Amino acid sequence: MKIFIGVVYSLLPEIVLLIAAALVSHFIGKFPPGGILALELVTLCILLVALALSIQFNRRRIFFAVLSLLVACAGLLLAAGMHDGLRRQILSGGLCLLLPLNLVWMQALAERGVFTRRGSWPFGLLIVEILFVAACVGIGARAIAAALYVEFMRWPVLAATGISQPGLLLLALGLLWLNDRLIRRHSPELAAFFFSLVAAAAVLHTQAPGVMVAFAAAAGIAFGFAIVLESWSMAYEDELTGLPGRRALEEQLRQLGNRYVIAMLDVDHFKRFNDSYGHAVGDQVLRLVASRLQNAGGGGKAFRYGGEEFTLVFPGRTLDEAGAALEALRADLATSGFSPRRQERRNATAQAAPADIAAVLRITVSIGAADCDNPHRDPWKVLMTADRALYKAKQTGRNQVCLEPA
Ligand code: GH3
Ligand code: MG
Ligand code: MG
Repeated sequence: MKIFIGVVYSLLPEIVLLIAAALVSHFIGKFPPGGILALELVTLCILLVALALSIQFNRRRIFFAVLSLLVACAGLLLAAGMHDGLRRQILSGGLCLLLPLNLVWMQALAERGVFTRRGSWPFGLLIVEILFVAACVGIGARAIAAALYVEFMRWPVLAATGISQPGLLLLALGLLWLNDRLIRRHSPELAAFFFSLVAAAAVLHTQAPGVMVAFAAAAGIAFGFAIVLESWSMAYEDELTGLPGRRALEEQLRQLGNRYVIAMLDVDHFKRFNDSYGHAVGDQVLRLVASRLQNAGGGGKAFRYGGEEFTLVFPGRTLDEAGAALEALRADLATSGFSPRRQERRNATAQAAPADIAAVLRITVSIGAADCDNPHRDPWKVLMTADRALYKAKQTGRNQVCLEPA
């Protein structure tokens, strides 16, 4: 249940977009003709904004996905206006194959910039696709339509959709693949790609221009939202540990109420991990400490202050309450230990004195904390007091918590 709520929460923007697009496409029949034209223009603007954002933030995957979406929309509008049934079938059959294929393919691209020499080849791919589909439509042979709408199965439910069976297969495989990636590691971009495939399925299923504009606009918003959200988390989150960084700490300090505790935590002799086992092991130690901090009790919020220093903020807590949680955290870290992989131990022998090499490393931390019950006190001054308490903890033997009452 908890996992389900977590998934729904992380996909909330996409779920809202899906409902909005479904509502717009349901009521589009009641729109006056001018309203539909306005909706088409709004959709075009949304997709252009998403394109501009992806160029600005150098997001090649999203740029080419939105461009594929734009090209597909143009193709579907063209198909809707065609009088020759066979050519219309060939055009929509080609789009059923190429749109899902492009969306999945674009997600697998490496980020190499949109207009760079190594990054811009998907432009060529899109042009080849357009020429190929145009040639097939131009030839207009029955054999092409038969190949595009080849039937693997004769289930009546499959005949009820406008999507060809090869297109359905690609959509299903793409959704399964993206779902698997989303379960492993959630990211706003992956969620937007997953949503764009769902939107593509809705568009290709009905092939109605009204449904197309609603879902294309929703996909454009999802992509734009993903760019903004990921840029936001890049600015606020520390990449190595996943903890909020200094900027987020500044914001948290501005929001504190009358009573709170701030703690500064520093890994003891951290330089030795780097010197003996290399930077990669040092990074693993930082990640381990960060994960323990994330689960620190007492309502403490953890931030990476910089290097091997972390900050914990306890809004609304007294020094006694936070002190107990900090002591439990220190003891937990001191007793758990960390095993570098065998390969890293082998590398270590080349860099360090054999006495420094151990199968299990002992990680200890020193902590200084200070409280505040005066709303006029600057939280940065409280943080400095906590830092002085941390210095005391270091001076008097490390692996301990030093509390500094206000
Ligand atoms: P003390 O017990 O007095 O705190 O000693 P220390 O060795 O922990 O402290 P010192 O300040 O001498 O060394 C901190 C080291 O942390 C120096 C720097 O190279 C390393 N460091 C800072 N940021 C990172 C990082 O992101 N990754 C890794 N691997 N090392 C880092
Ligand atoms: Mg330090
Ligand atoms: Mg240190």
